[in-house]
Amino acid sequence: MRKTAAKKTQGPSLPVCYAEIVFNIPADRSFTYSSAEPLSLGCRVLAPFHGRTLAGFVIAVRESAPPADFEIKSLRRVIDTQPLFDAAYLDLARWVASMYFASLGESLSAMIPGGRRESEVSGIAVDQEDVAESPLNLSEEQNQAVEAILGSPGGMSYLFGITGSGKTEVFLRAAAGTLAEGRSVIYLVPEIALSGQVARAIRGRFGKGAAVLHSRLSPSQRLAEWRRIMRGEARLVVGARSAVFAPLADLGLVILDEEHEGSYKSGASPRYHARQVAMRRCSLCGARLVMGSATPSAEAFHLMRSGGLREIRLSRRLAGGCLPRVEVVDLAGQDGAFSPRLRNAVLAEWKAGRQSILFLNRRGFSHLFHCNSCGYEMKCKNCSVGLIYHKKRGRMVCHYCGYTARLPDVCPECGSLDVGFFGFGTEKIEEEARRIFPELRIARLDTDAVRARGNLEQTLADFREGRIDLLLGTQMVAKGLNFRGVSLVGIVLADTGLHLPDFRSLERTFALIVQVAGRAGRFCECGRVIVQTYAPDNAAIRGAAAAAGADAENPSDTASGTAAMEDFYRSELEMRKALMFPPFSRLFRLVFRGKALDGVSAAAAQYAGALQERLAGLPASVLGPCECPLSVIAGNHRHQILVRTTAFGGVHAGLKQILGGLKPPHGVYLEIDVDPVGLL
Ligand code: ADP
Ligand code: ZN
Ligand code: ZN
Repeated sequence: MRKTAAKKTQGPSLPVCYAEIVFNIPADRSFTYSSAEPLSLGCRVLAPFHGRTLAGFVIAVRESAPPADFEIKSLRRVIDTQPLFDAAYLDLARWVASMYFASLGESLSAMIPGGRRESEVSGIAVDQEDVAESPLNLSEEQNQAVEAILGSPGGMSYLFGITGSGKTEVFLRAAAGTLAEGRSVIYLVPEIALSGQVARAIRGRFGKGAAVLHSRLSPSQRLAEWRRIMRGEARLVVGARSAVFAPLADLGLVILDEEHEGSYKSGASPRYHARQVAMRRCSLCGARLVMGSATPSAEAFHLMRSGGLREIRLSRRLAGGCLPRVEVVDLAGQDGAFSPRLRNAVLAEWKAGRQSILFLNRRGFSHLFHCNSCGYEMKCKNCSVGLIYHKKRGRMVCHYCGYTARLPDVCPECGSLDVGFFGFGTEKIEEEARRIFPELRIARLDTDAVRARGNLEQTLADFREGRIDLLLGTQMVAKGLNFRGVSLVGIVLADTGLHLPDFRSLERTFALIVQVAGRAGRFCECGRVIVQTYAPDNAAIRGAAAAAGADAENPSDTASGTAAMEDFYRSELEMRKALMFPPFSRLFRLVFRGKALDGVSAAAAQYAGALQERLAGLPASVLGPCECPLSVIAGNHRHQILVRTTAFGGVHAGLKQILGGLKPPHGVYLEIDVDPVGLL
């Protein structure tokens, strides 16, 4: 690099200060620039970087030129006049970067919205429903829960309550109580809940004092909300995962609703978990953390029972409903996706003027294209997964990379005509439902349907107001939705996640069934759930059916459901302990990916060797390297190493040291996931 005197800048743009800038790139260092305008920490700037112009964050400012043996370039432009974060916030970003093996620039970019033209937007047009809804009289249990939460200024608690037991109301009161103390609140929910009741209740009760960060805000709108939060105009922030980074002063409470949800974990660097960040923020500023779910993660359940989390129970449904009757139907030998029992149940509800929800955790029309002569299965040419037939598009589609292929009419391998499709997805269920229930008004809710018509909110409103008889879909219909007219929930196929090579597959199947079943009978005593499965004896399916259902003799008694719930967690935790999986250990996952298989496997082997050597003497096992269960995605080969340990800090430090000295070869990318939630 050319050596030039640092102060060589000329004329009107004489530097007034020098700044350390970090960019949204993996490089774990800052870069020095000069500025002709005064700057402060926390502002964004545009800077020349290797022939491009990048936006970056100012993390330090000094008045005189730092000693440098390189040319100090000048910034192109300062984006913000007011800083977006302060020094304390920078410390949080440094923690995120270090914890999750990301650069500081990547971390700040994930934490702070990136809107540019902030001046165009002033505030957000919130649907003005500022009428305070008539407050409910809390039940005895709810009252105690609110008191338990507000009773101490800090600490962690878990609101463990059956579906429909009024957790939301407890959270809202705890939020109001904390605001009344003069402290601020973060309320985290899964994304889908933001289009529903929670957002409405928040806006109704807290009006402009709340910032609701939903995914339909543009980056500029997000930034405008960010500034409102920084100015202290919004003291309650509601949002999905990234809202945990809201720049609130005097934080007094973080609420994490549906704690078990996988969407609290980021899929891109930094691969943070909102629960972990919330714990960090709360312990730094002495705030309370309250999590809640009807189906805690095994980690949270274990923590609750080992005393690390205060457990608060809610055991009764409050809106006039009780737990539903749950029936398990064996699909073996059935033709099509609707067993006679499910078919009759949907018809009976409709005749009685009530609504039904059908849930299936798989998009598309059919599952797999299969040849009965040679066994050929049609796979994605870029990924090691089967293609899914999407009838409306008339194509075979890969759900991992989006690759599409023509639908073959003979076997591409052997030319046989004896080919067909296996399995079914939401699109197929919709077609079948329209055929067998011609008189019903039917709507489908999954990412394909929402992408095509962009009408998530409209469909939910139509359903809520009774213009739809049967709503079918994926996760989208299962999460946090709360409909008055729903008495029947059908789980079309409960086994879809059961056979995945992931130690959490039972826990997830269990939680999904209990949550979906929990949509039935919230407001009436005639709730009914039909669970269709090919594995009626599986522990997760049997356990979930028992846990989600009412006592046959006494429907308002939840004791048998609670006992079944305890049984499931106890046996799940025993298994985890025997295998030394989380929560009895912690995991680090290293995924190596690249176009060239040789390079990928060599890199994985090299790192595995380095890890073995560096971690010797620590209670840690290095598992692998081996192919990832999804061994190819989008043409990239994927190999992984898992490190399992009871000495988290030592392994974290060891890994950091290795990464400081070892770089993957050209064309191989390394992703590091601390406490991974997905292992595919
Ligand atoms: P959860 O989140 O625990 O599944 P919700 O918070 O959605 O349950 O509450 C279920 C229903 O109970 C909602 O319709 C809510 O309005 C109602 N509800 C909550 N608290 C009370 C109460 N104290 N009295 C009457 N109804 C209540
Ligand atoms: Zn064939
Ligand atoms: Zn693919």
